[in-house]
Amino acid sequence: MSLRRAPNPNRNFPTYCPYCAGEELYPNEETEFAWKCGECLRVFEVKFHGQDDAGTTPAPAPSTEDALQASLRKHGHDAVLREVGHTGGNA
Ligand SMILES: [Zn+2]
Repeated sequence: MSLRRAPNPNRNFPTYCPYCAGEELYPNEETEFAWKCGECLRVFEVKFHGQDDAGTTPAPAPSTEDALQASLRKHGHDAVLREVGHTGGNA
């Protein structure tokens, strides 16, 4: 298979025209990112610029053992609580 030019890996494929919601979209030679809507004849681009950092980072999830121990502590099951610092393993 030969291509006239190398494929653009950053070209996104829109499902619908952002102006008329038409689905008859074709790549356009206007730019590397351009699409032409066959229904409203508009030529537009779709670009992905990256992902922004989250405003707040969620706390790391506790391990299953830590979550179990916290739940036992919360519900007053002191008899089955393990020693603090015990990291599991029944050997
Ligand atoms: Zn359109």
